Amino acid sequence: MSEKKRILTGDRPTGRLHLGHYVGSLQNRLRLQDEYECYFLIADLHTLTTRPEKVHIEALRENTRELVLDYLAVGIDPAKSTIYLQSAVHAVYEMNLFFEMLVTLPRVARLPSIKDMAKAANMDDEAIPFGLVGYPVLQAADILMPRSHLVPVGKDNEAHVEVTREIARRFNNYYGEVFPIPESMIGDVPTLVGTDGQAKMSKSLDNCILLSDDAKTIEKRVRGMFTDPNRTRADIPGKVEGNPVFIYHDAFNPNRDEVEDLKTRYREGKVGDVEVKAKLTAALNTFLDPIRDRRRQFEEDKGYVEEVLYEGTLRAVEIADETLKEVKKAMGLTGIWNRISRRARDRKRENQE
Ligand code: ATP
Ligand code: MG
Repeated sequence: MSEKKRILTGDRPTGRLHLGHYVGSLQNRLRLQDEYECYFLIADLHTLTTRPEKVHIEALRENTRELVLDYLAVGIDPAKSTIYLQSAVHAVYEMNLFFEMLVTLPRVARLPSIKDMAKAANMDDEAIPFGLVGYPVLQAADILMPRSHLVPVGKDNEAHVEVTREIARRFNNYYGEVFPIPESMIGDVPTLVGTDGQAKMSKSLDNCILLSDDAKTIEKRVRGMFTDPNRTRADIPGKVEGNPVFIYHDAFNPNRDEVEDLKTRYREGKVGDVEVKAKLTAALNTFLDPIRDRRRQFEEDKGYVEEVLYEGTLRAVEIADETLKEVKKAMGLTGIWNRISRRARDRKRENQE
């Protein structure tokens, strides 16, 4: 085992990644990928919690590919970091079941995020699947699978990591020290606002700028962005705080002097939205240019994405099996269970011969 501490985090394969994902989590992953041993999962099982139907399962393949491309495009390096497919790691299903016994139903059912996800999927309370309430438990199985120390996530995910910490503590308490207590690490912008001024940039709200959007789309998105609603003319003093256009300038425009100058003039009613937005468009395109270029290169490299995912998943399976072995040993689920699985393996081999 390497000496490095471990990171685990990931995303559901529900579409391409956006600027919110970048400042919320990806940026920290990139900063830490040398210092930590990193595991980035494609949480396809989590997608099933709100989208179990066949048509959504059929979309997973393409969405998974898009997600790997986004990872590679921002600079996640598969030589350093393990990118893997959650549903192919069987040990996680088993750990999920053990962990379900270590948390109470009210503890998870009252998490606002569960209701938010149900609402986003047009489900009323009565229609919430058992598995959706289990979302944070499955997440605990993911996080604890490589016995990780750190979980870079957006603010909306902090409460879930807290559930993982509780499960890890309880496990260690009942069965002995197997898990580190992982900490969440919130991004530079804990929750990036949407282009429409809503609290969160989110795919389901159609208020996103994707990391793969082309320059024309960026221009259009920024032109339509929500600003200070009271400022109906350029000579009216405007509000910078909480103004999405300036939040994005702060997050993505490295030219601090330009941003400060725009803010000063905006507050004094001496600059029009058109100029502020044009400069934001330019800054975003400068930021996204290398990401889009890399994405294009990886798209053209036939078979590469699949190779990255296969290799990463094989590695994750190995680590997960090691952890599951420790888990069962600590719980005392060894003796007869091990003999049975050995015999089942032998019988299968005999039948094949
Ligand atoms: P979306 O709401 O766009 O569908 P999501 O929340 O479903 O995205 P997840 O796969 O649940 O995406 O989250 C991936 C990671 O990105 C999580 O750590 C989450 O906190 C973070 N994240 C998602 N949206 C934002 C945002 N607007 N600002 C900051 N972080 C975000
Ligand atoms: Mg989410």
